[in-house]
Amino acid sequence: MTGIRRRDFLAGVGGAAGAALAPRLLAAQRAGTRLILLGTGGGPRPRKANSASAQVIVIDGAAYVIDCGDGVARQLAFAGVPLPTLRHVFVTHQHSDHTADYGNLVWLAWTAGLRSRVDTWGPPPLEKMTRLFFEMNAADIDVRIADEGRVPLAPLVHVHELTAAGLVFQDEHVKVTAALVRHPPVVPAFGYRFDAGDRSIVISGDTAPSDEVIALARGADVLVHDAMFPAGVDRLIANVPNAATLKRSILSHHTSAEDAGRVAQAAGVKTLVLSHLVPPDDPAITDDMWLASARTHFHGTVIVGKDLLEI
Ligand SMILES: [Zn+2]
Ligand SMILES: [Zn+2]
Repeated sequence: MTGIRRRDFLAGVGGAAGAALAPRLLAAQRAGTRLILLGTGGGPRPRKANSASAQVIVIDGAAYVIDCGDGVARQLAFAGVPLPTLRHVFVTHQHSDHTADYGNLVWLAWTAGLRSRVDTWGPPPLEKMTRLFFEMNAADIDVRIADEGRVPLAPLVHVHELTAAGLVFQDEHVKVTAALVRHPPVVPAFGYRFDAGDRSIVISGDTAPSDEVIALARGADVLVHDAMFPAGVDRLIANVPNAATLKRSILSHHTSAEDAGRVAQAAGVKTLVLSHLVPPDDPAITDDMWLASARTHFHGTVIVGKDLLEI
């Protein structure tokens, strides 16, 4: 049974699976730490099937966004997460399917009424990206401050560049830990673990099979892992001029669904969520195929990631 169907059953609501279901699920699941998948496709190419990498963890009404693929602010709107509740943004690594809307997320949250501090975390050059983004968009930002009575935006945003594994930060709601994962030549690339009072959630980021992810995810409730279906990669790259190089790149620094299952089993997690799906939109690769691959070595619950699915 897929995650959507299971949630559908648990929430006692009928109807088809998919994006239309998510808002009803959200209304039914306000309590506790919430994980919502915002973008579950791998790669930066805009497409119909799903958005680029992003997820949000909501703890006591505060939004912790992990990765900022294309459309992340709009996906938060679809998910029913108020943009002014944005408090922390985590970037796993400097690839555009994870960063394209980093600046836009904060900027557009501010137009939606954000007035409180936002901390952002991730690899260099995050500070320069932030500064240049505000500079690039100063015409709009300045006129909205002067003309609409908004608070200055730049002072709200506190950037923390990360270069090493370890404790990222801890507050009264959550402890966040980072691990270095294997995504050469993009270095550093991080996975993040969130230990809240009621559950623990790990986001692998983009990575080849990694002992560091196993250690990071040890005993976690939920592991959201990069997942590739190797047989589909040839179709994915069939029509690009750089096919051979791109194929070598994809295969070298992602994890097959089968290996994601190995990682989840070794870590002893309860639930494995396949996300950052590569290929992201190949109809020949069904949910049952993703599930069967992951279940080869993993004996817990497996969910194939869908945009706006709450877990
Ligand atoms: Zn990626
Ligand atoms: Zn990447």
